[in-house]
Amino acid sequence: MTFQVAPLPYDYAALEPTIDAATMRLHHQKHHQTYVDNLNKVVEGDSTLKGNELEALLANVSGRPAAVRNNGGGHWNHSFFWEIMGPGDGSRRPEGGLGEAIGSAFGSFEGMQEQFNNAGVGRFGSGWVWLVADASGGLRVTSTQNQDNPLMDVAEVRGTPILGNDVWEHAYYLTYNNRRADYLKAWWKVVNWDKVQERYAGVGR
Ligand code: MN
Repeated sequence: MTFQVAPLPYDYAALEPTIDAATMRLHHQKHHQTYVDNLNKVVEGDSTLKGNELEALLANVSGRPAAVRNNGGGHWNHSFFWEIMGPGDGSRRPEGGLGEAIGSAFGSFEGMQEQFNNAGVGRFGSGWVWLVADASGGLRVTSTQNQDNPLMDVAEVRGTPILGNDVWEHAYYLTYNNRRADYLKAWWKVVNWDKVQERYAGVGR
């Protein structure tokens, strides 16, 4: 089995002006592709890794080569990231069970956004910020370094990611330069809440 970068589910320019087309193209065609190429290299060369689903590799990542953690995480994280974004104007709010769970965990949608943005700004260096669900649907905000994610056994807070943002500089530098906080604030406009709600509905409970 060979891992592959799926086509973006929208045009490279579809998230403008929040995320510029050049950033999207480089991020998808170069950064994500490099994680996939390097993941395939390490998996092809190791019979104990071959044939595993990506999530199975991540669940036991502490016992795998570092290249699996970095590149397997990179592949999972970016595949997820493209999917939970889409064109939008920021007027949508999460509804139904997800809306209620956000209210009970954070007090309000804005309370969740604030925790999420603060966790993204507070991540030193490169990493990700996540909204994760536990098995009973409870929500938490967490952040991971590098290409780690909450599916990994090495994660401080484990859970099912239902929303996540990439806070590596490559995700925002062309438009926002060093202003990560501005990127985090603007990014909510391009969250595809239909997809996030679908993911939340799929959480085992
Ligand atoms: Mn990235």
